[in-house]
Formats: sequence, C-alpha cells, structure tokens
Amino acid sequence: MTTVKASQRLMLPSVDRILRLPALAGLQAQYGRLFLTDLTRAVLAEIRESAARGDGSEPAPSDEDIVGAIASRAVRETRPSLVPVFNLTGTVLHTNLGRAALPREAVEAVAAVSRGASNLEFDLEKGARGDRDSHIDALLCKLTGAEAATVVNNNAAAVFLVLNTLALRKEVPVSRGELIEIGGAFRMPDIMARAGCKLREVGTTNRTHPKDFEGAIGPRTAMLMTVHTSNYEVQGFTARVPEETLAALAHSHGLPYVVDLGSGTLVDLGVYGLPHEETPAEAIAAGADLVTFSGDKLLGGPQAGIIVGRRDLIAKLRRNPLKRALRLDKMTIAALSAVLALYLDKDRLAEQLPTLRMLSRPVADIRAAAGRLAPEVARRLEAVATVDTEECRSQIGSGALPVDLLPSVALRIRPKSEGRGSGAALNRIAAAFRALPMPVIGRIQNDAFLLDLRCLEEESAFLGQLHQLDLP
Ligand SMILES: *Cc1c(COP(=O)(O)O)cnc(C)c1O
Repeated sequence: MTTVKASQRLMLPSVDRILRLPALAGLQAQYGRLFLTDLTRAVLAEIRESAARGDGSEPAPSDEDIVGAIASRAVRETRPSLVPVFNLTGTVLHTNLGRAALPREAVEAVAAVSRGASNLEFDLEKGARGDRDSHIDALLCKLTGAEAATVVNNNAAAVFLVLNTLALRKEVPVSRGELIEIGGAFRMPDIMARAGCKLREVGTTNRTHPKDFEGAIGPRTAMLMTVHTSNYEVQGFTARVPEETLAALAHSHGLPYVVDLGSGTLVDLGVYGLPHEETPAEAIAAGADLVTFSGDKLLGGPQAGIIVGRRDLIAKLRRNPLKRALRLDKMTIAALSAVLALYLDKDRLAEQLPTLRMLSRPVADIRAAAGRLAPEVARRLEAVATVDTEECRSQIGSGALPVDLLPSVALRIRPKSEGRGSGAALNRIAAAFRALPMPVIGRIQNDAFLLDLRCLEEESAFLGQLHQLDLP
C-alpha cells in the first residue's frame, strides 16, 4: 500500500486504465460500457474528494478496491427503490405498505395486459373504438345492484369528480360530524374547495338532525351527502341522520344523494366472523344515487376509486373532462376486473382473496405459526435477544372499522441488554429486519419488537433470509 500525499492526488489511475482491467469485464457485460464509464468516473471522484478531506495519510486504493467500489455503486444505483416487504405490523390494510395484497389472478391479469397491446378502448365485436370502463362496469353493477358504474384513480378522485360534476359553484350541506380527514391530506373541506363547491356545515360534531339539513337546503344546494367516518367513531350522546331519511329529503327537493363509503366491501363481512361494514348495495338500497368507495381497502383490489349509481349521473361524470385526467390505467383495470370476478364465487372468496383470507385467518392458525417460527427466530437472535410469542391484536387498517381489533399472535423479540440503551438495542433489531433483502416491518411496543404473524403467508421465505440478519 502506498500513501496518497497531496502531491500524489492526481496519481489515481485514469478512467481508461480502470475500464481496461480484466476484473471489470464482467461488470461491463452486465451494465454496459457507457454506464460503467459513468460509475468509474464517479468512484474515482469520490476517492479524490475523500483524499482531499484527509490529512494525506490514507492509503491509496488498490485496483481491487476501486473495482469493488464500482460494483457496489452499480448495485446501489440500479436497485429499485420500491420493493416488496413482509407486513408484520399487525395492520392488514397498511396505507404506507401499499394496502391490499392482490390475488394471483389479478397479478397475472396485470402481466398479461402490460406485456403488449390490449383492447383497452377497443370494441372487439364492432371493430371500433370502445370505452375502458366497459371492462368492469357490468361486474360492478352485478355486485352492487347499481344501474351504472365508473372508475377513477382512487376514492379521493372519485369524491372530487362527483363534487366537481354535480356541485360546481353550488353548495353541499355536510354534517359537522363527518368533516373527515383521512391520512395523507384528504380533508373533506379542502376537497370541496378544490372541487369548486361550497361546503355548508350542518349540525354539530356529535349530533346532526334531519331539520339541520332541511334548514340548509336552498336554491344553491347541489346535492346532499353522507361521508362515512372511516377512521374514527363518535360515541356517547350522538345522533346522525339515517341514509334513508337523507335520501328521501334530497329526493323531495329534486337533489341527488351521494354516499362516500370510504372502504366499501362487496360482501357481508359478518359471514367471515368480522364486524359488519356497510356495502355499496346497502347504500343504494337506502336511496343513494351515487356511492363512492376505494378499490384497495376492504375490497382487496388495486388502488382505484369506484363510483356506482344512477345511469344519468354516471354519464355526467364520464362527460366531465376531469374524468380523463383521473382515469385508470390498463394494469389497474386488469387487476380490478380479476378481483371483481373472484366475488362471483363467494364460497371460495375467503380462500382466494388475500385481504379477506388474512382478515378472517383463525387465531389458532396464527398461534400455530408462532409456535413453529419462534424457536427458529430465537436461534438466529440468540446472541442479542430473547424470542417468545405474545397474544396481540391486529387492526384492519386504512380507516376501515377503526375500533374493531382482531385477536392475533406475534413473535415478541426483546433485546438482552437491560435498562439504559435497550431502546437503542430495540431500534437496532428493528433496523436489521428492515435491512433484509425482503424487508420485514414490525412494530415496537412495550419495550419489545413485535412481529404480528397474521399476514405472514410465506414462512419459508421469511425464515430463509434470517441468516442474513446483520446483528452482532
Ligand atoms: C379512504 C377514504 C377516502 C380516500 O380514499 P382513497 O382510495 O385513499 O383515495 C375517502 N373517503 C373516505 C370516507 C375514506 O375512508
């Protein structure tokens, strides 16, 4: 090893010489000459800069060091940022972790249409231009009992499109108990303002009566609306106006009645031992003219906003130029149509749809998994932590059924270092799990790192990477 002196800084090998090294041939075949030249320049510049910052006593890098640095930079720069993870947080529909897991049928449908051309907006029978909604609207009508349906980018877009189409420069009375904020900047008052309509607050936070709505209806009123309070519940001395009442009131004034359901499941969750959540079919039966809901919450599909209801109103939504800006892409349409098709066979839905499968997974099954996995994880973490199992509660997530928790079982990992510094040890363990090739995301609670096993379906993939945990 030689030493880089100030006078020797320019003695670093040239880019050309590095590129001619036989050791670089493999990388060159893999990444291409142009990209490798860029990487080599960047690595040499980095070495030069760090030498300039030092006192001149650092050893000059060998050719092997430089090739190694180029190889790891190549991996770093080409690695995708968005990768699959294990969601062991205990929140089944975790917005930050991509919400619903798609069934195999949907993944295959996405691959099939994205590989080449498709009949996205082409009517194969007539040989003429078609409509992209045609691939899903019949199924949506069948599953919800609606006359017509359309789809947009997400439920926020669905609400926005409805407001902008039906209530531009007009008023929309909404109960003060329903002026929701959903995580990530979806606030009903802001959406209303941006959609170009005027929010007319009625009632109070905990109690709103039919007469509050009646008093708010005037010549500028565009529609009445109920917003599902997805992520909280108002309890105690409360009163809300039933959908049937609000629908009748709207219709007696010739106004449309809109329900933003938020989650919107297409089946009675009670059948699967879960708390009941209102379905679009129920909202329509109660008199809603339009119902909006998400594709990737309880429905278990891709990110999408679904609007079902009266044919004339859906036609109006389709004519709004904003529909073009908010429309779904072909991959999402493929995934959504595959997910909706699974709903036709309700007997096997809980097996085939991952969201429902995970939500309805029996706790005995999760407990058995915990019993299998705990000893294996304990063996790997022996030097740093103790591992046992703990009964815990999973949540549905994404604002669906906010107060209902599902009994579950977690691996409980506690660092062996006691007292001061164990918080840091806990964070190190959580970070090591996040740094795995397929990152494992858990939660820290009561001085332990918990891995809720409800959503772990691929146990061998989980165990197979544990030897790569970077822990002392
Ligand atoms: C989740 C939710 C939304 C937003 O839906 P996204 O699909 O996340 O855009 C709107 N309204 C309600 C009531 C919701 O629960």
